[in-house]
Amino acid sequence: MNNNLSNDLSQAAALLKQSDCNVALTGAGISVASGIPDFRSSDGLWTIFDPMEYATLAAFLHQPEKVWQMFQAVHNTLLGCKPNSAHLALAQLEVAKRLQAVITQNIDGLHQLAGNGTVLELHGNTQSLACPGCGYRQPFDLSQFPPAPVPCPQLAVLPQDHQQAQYLKPDVILFGEDLQPEIIRQFWYWQNKIDVLLVVGTSADVYPAASLPRIVKELGGKVIEINVQPTAVSALADYTLRGRAEIILPQLVEKVG
Ligand SMILES: [Zn+2]
Repeated sequence: MNNNLSNDLSQAAALLKQSDCNVALTGAGISVASGIPDFRSSDGLWTIFDPMEYATLAAFLHQPEKVWQMFQAVHNTLLGCKPNSAHLALAQLEVAKRLQAVITQNIDGLHQLAGNGTVLELHGNTQSLACPGCGYRQPFDLSQFPPAPVPCPQLAVLPQDHQQAQYLKPDVILFGEDLQPEIIRQFWYWQNKIDVLLVVGTSADVYPAASLPRIVKELGGKVIEINVQPTAVSALADYTLRGRAEIILPQLVEKVG
């Protein structure tokens, strides 16, 4: 380990130790070591499924069977994946009361599997099916992924109140779809409380995650970035810990003690 990284790790750890509200903002980079390639990387999902063709609400409304192929591929990628040492380090930080929440853009549920109790999933998750037409939700088991779109059961009950969609989809946010109001409310709650934001494995260029590092800084908080390469966050981060999350995070958490 070079001296700069070692010094920055120590100072970042000291910051986490002395602050009351530490929150992690995570993205695809934290789950790569769990076998989930970043959708946008060269071996990611978007090389097979053009997101503007498959991952939009309009596409699901008009061609649910076609979009289901993408959901099936996501499901195949996530099935059986387990938390890696980066997820486990964040869970350890929460147990030590040095991490108050995880805000994630990931839909893989690995933070909860690692043991984190307060996880805000900005883009939803794959543990339930939801109807874009009426908000109906039902839990479902990843190991029993439906082979084709499932019609919304509310269609028969509330045909008048039902808009557009006729089928349930995994409860993840597609392009062109609004975040759930409760998620936005919780996001704003944490945004105003954060003393230290730990940005892990994300270039944070999708709203609302994109605005968070800047707002934390404007409100007097600090930002620590862990990423393999420079991002827009690097320019305003107080400490940038360059490297893979599964290597760097355990080292940081060990120093927090
Ligand atoms: Zn419905």
